[in-house]
Amino acid sequence: MRPHFSVFSLGFALLTTPALAWEDGPSLEELMKPAPNQAWNGFALAGHSTTKLADGVYAFRNTGTRSIFMVTDDGVIATDPVSEIHAKLMRDAIAEVTDQPVTHVVYSHEHWDHVQGGQIFKDEGATFIAHENCAKHFYDLPNPNIVMPDVTFADDYTLEVGGRSLELMYFGPNHGDCMVVMQPDAGDYLFIVDLVTPGGAPLGFMPDYSPHHWVRTLKEIEALDYKAIIGGHGALLSHPSAVTERRQYLEALMEATQTAMVSGDNPFELHKEIRVPEFDYLRGYEGRIEDNARRMLMYYGIGW
Ligand SMILES: [Zn+2]
Repeated sequence: MRPHFSVFSLGFALLTTPALAWEDGPSLEELMKPAPNQAWNGFALAGHSTTKLADGVYAFRNTGTRSIFMVTDDGVIATDPVSEIHAKLMRDAIAEVTDQPVTHVVYSHEHWDHVQGGQIFKDEGATFIAHENCAKHFYDLPNPNIVMPDVTFADDYTLEVGGRSLELMYFGPNHGDCMVVMQPDAGDYLFIVDLVTPGGAPLGFMPDYSPHHWVRTLKEIEALDYKAIIGGHGALLSHPSAVTERRQYLEALMEATQTAMVSGDNPFELHKEIRVPEFDYLRGYEGRIEDNARRMLMYYGIGW
């Protein structure tokens, strides 16, 4: 394997590459401060940008969604095409840094807001890779804008191309049931999609999340050795303590929900009283806490 150098070992030297810039928003130093960290709220939501994070490792963002790609000696590994527009812009971004073809596309999980639009890569011969449970979802509910995976796997998977590697770590069900967390070159970064949105409260009704599996997965990620999260949404990079902050928010919400459910109060009004004030600094908290509480009430009400 060729040596890889990250922004951590080289400061900002790599970011001087023409056509590349540090993504709009806070500096690396600000982003690497642990939770609670308001710098994680300073991300861009308009336009698109490409950031070189290490030798051959790039983050690509269009509006609010991010993918990564890796340039190897034998082709490019792209991840989550997201949409036709996102995929086209990412293909252009790849062409800015290499003439290599895209040979592999990896899906993070099954949700349509991350895996549509891959045809542009299929047309140039890329092999599509996803956890086997993703393929089941795509057969169950076909979407003509989703390219079916060519290669599936049941547990962890290591993609090796041109002397580079991309670890695909599977933790079982958590958000959907085919989510993988990706680690380029067993190095500094984990690319984490949807399981954590650093500095924010979870999206409204916490779609397709299994609360106890979510907490379990976050604990397993907390035990891994890495330096920074590359976010599928939100901040480009964040300190690993963002995972702990999310887990602790969920655990506090679970406890508050169970307490409310034995209070004797009207069960249809409980979402109005369940609060986790120690986390009210999280981005979006005020607008999301009632829906978060509704989701947790459903979880403890029917076990789903
Ligand atoms: Zn998702």
